[in-house]
Amino acid sequence: MGILVACSFFNHLLMPDIKSELKLEVFMEHIKNNNLVLSSVINLIDDLIFYKDKDFKYLGGNSAFLAFINNSPEELIGKDDFEIFDHELASLFRHNDKLMLAEGNIRTNEEWVTYPDGSKVYLLTKKIPFVYDLTNTGIIGISRDITSLEKAKQQLQAQTLVDELTKVNNRKAYNLKIKALLAVFERYQTPFSIISIDIDDFKKINDNYGHDIGDKVLQSFSALIEGHIRQTDHLFRVGGEEFVILCESKTKNDAIKLAEKLRSITENTTLMTNIDFTISLGICAVRKDDDANSIAKRVDTLLYQAKANGKNIVSYHS
Ligand code: GH3
Ligand code: MG
Ligand code: MG
Repeated sequence: MGILVACSFFNHLLMPDIKSELKLEVFMEHIKNNNLVLSSVINLIDDLIFYKDKDFKYLGGNSAFLAFINNSPEELIGKDDFEIFDHELASLFRHNDKLMLAEGNIRTNEEWVTYPDGSKVYLLTKKIPFVYDLTNTGIIGISRDITSLEKAKQQLQAQTLVDELTKVNNRKAYNLKIKALLAVFERYQTPFSIISIDIDDFKKINDNYGHDIGDKVLQSFSALIEGHIRQTDHLFRVGGEEFVILCESKTKNDAIKLAEKLRSITENTTLMTNIDFTISLGICAVRKDDDANSIAKRVDTLLYQAKANGKNIVSYHS
């Protein structure tokens, strides 16, 4: 690899010297020197650089790569990924290598990788084919650790799904989650239920105590509900004083029990030392051929019934 890369890399530097008929030893000396320069540069780079032959066996790697896999060059050369990484990771690398060789073009991948020392990193890897021994095509790979960038991106994405006031999931998160649950239901018939919650006479709280206290009530109420649901129940603030709980893998009867518990807890809890209020709830389970709209329509009708029947009520189709 070294000679070929060095040849192309330093071609323009060597050409004038070759034209002036340098002797072969001088030419080889040039290449040797250039190779030394090149490998020094490669070893200075923080990115992980490695190269493999046509049979996916390592021909070498830079210092960063060797340090990362905790191997010496002697231990690396001639081995393949299955001798270095666990089976799952090696299979992934092999799959990407094969795709790149089949396409014969530069290929970029991003993935979480757990290295032999247990560290978990997010790598951006570029692979390109290279010809060695004049006929064989191997692989050069360069991996950049972009873990902190990826984590920052994930944090930003998570922020767009959180309601600013109450810190529970927002409507956008709800839209994503119900789509995901509907997809799982369609594929595996895994049931889920939806509970729609609306605070009764919330306007009066604002009118009596002011909008700021109204905001604090919304925060305390969200925390109260979060404290009484399980990890598989997901709370969303979908409107001003309107909330939804998506209950994963819950039958309608279990969802009804949960709704009744939440109704009772709210009725019997005094928030902000002197504010009492109640909630009305509608519940339904997913049905065949439901989409996000049909299920929302059904549960809204039930919630409306709860309001019409006097509020502080759990409403569902029996
Ligand atoms: P109902 O029992 O029929 O639900 O009566 P309600 O007063 O709760 O319902 P309505 O929809 O008439 O009023 C909701 C009120 O919630 C009106 C609005 O000013 C208030 N609200 C909406 N968003 C916020 C918010 O972010 N903070 C505060 N403090 N109030 C809000
Ligand atoms: Mg409302
Ligand atoms: Mg209301």
